Amino acid sequence: MIIVLKPHATQEVIDHVIERIEALGFTPHLSQGVARTIIGVIGDEDKLQAEPLQAIAGVEQVVPILKPYKLASREFHGEASVFDIKGIKVGGGHLMMIAGPCAIESEPLLVEIAEKVREAGANVLRGGAFKPRTSPYSFQGLGEDGLKMLKATGERFGMPVVTEVMDPRQIELVERYTDLFQIGARNMQNFDLLKEVGKTRIPVLLKRGMSATVKDLLMSAEYVLAQGNRRVILCERGVRTFEDSTRNTLDLSIVPNVKGLSHLPIIVDPSHATGRPDLIPAMSLAGVAAGSDGIHIEVHSCPEKALSDGPQALLPRQYAQLMVELRQLAQLLGKTIDACEGVTV
Ligand code: PEP
Ligand code: MN
Repeated sequence: MIIVLKPHATQEVIDHVIERIEALGFTPHLSQGVARTIIGVIGDEDKLQAEPLQAIAGVEQVVPILKPYKLASREFHGEASVFDIKGIKVGGGHLMMIAGPCAIESEPLLVEIAEKVREAGANVLRGGAFKPRTSPYSFQGLGEDGLKMLKATGERFGMPVVTEVMDPRQIELVERYTDLFQIGARNMQNFDLLKEVGKTRIPVLLKRGMSATVKDLLMSAEYVLAQGNRRVILCERGVRTFEDSTRNTLDLSIVPNVKGLSHLPIIVDPSHATGRPDLIPAMSLAGVAAGSDGIHIEVHSCPEKALSDGPQALLPRQYAQLMVELRQLAQLLGKTIDACEGVTV
């Protein structure tokens, strides 16, 4: 850690800071310029970061050397992490292609969509059974009935499934039906929920909060990792800006940014990021080009009748067309899209 003192700090101030550091059991290293004094402190940075050194009179800035997220950082794990979720890999050159309806509405509809997205090359099926809707009067999801439909459909098509868990009280139930927990944008900083999913062994798809910084996202991932669950996949799904012609603003720079800071895979969700089917194909391709480890897209066979997020859904044939282009791009970049196996229909 480096402590930068205010310009022309008096000897009294310098002595006091050194005394404080030594009292905490650390060794200070003084570097005095004409106007500035900086003090390097070597030792357990976790212990140091817990100390309010910034509050000492005469201290201008305290600069940590290590990242506050440890298990999520590249410093902790130099190689890109690769997770295998029921035979489908994500990270390190493997792309996870998640597709399905926003909400599970009925089994026949889910089966119809699953069959088509699978045929197009999707390798994970999504569908919400508990929906975080802006209005309490909107469709809230089918709950356990929906989870049963999702599990059965995933098994039928040999696809791992992902669904959102909104509350720690739902974990025990959702865990019985899903291969991957989704933590939605609105819950990215629900620390109790993060801790509880961290105690399970089900991997977590952690979506970026709509006003979360990269650091916020990685700190939330750290909550899960710190509990022992080491499989966290990050997801950029757009942030709130002043732009109102799209649902959110897709921040693609987060992909290479996260890759520099963390070993965790990161995927892109252009459906929630743009809210517009006409923009989803270009943003999906851009996501893969930026280094994304996968693409998450909402697909519905009749968007005008969808109970949730219909206006942003791609039709199955639009998804299939996009997947042709995504496969070409993946090939060009030397990336693989694992195929699902074990089809029983
Ligand atoms: C969703 O995936 O349907 C969803 C609600 O996503 P987000 O949390 O990113 O809004
Ligand atoms: Mn949705």
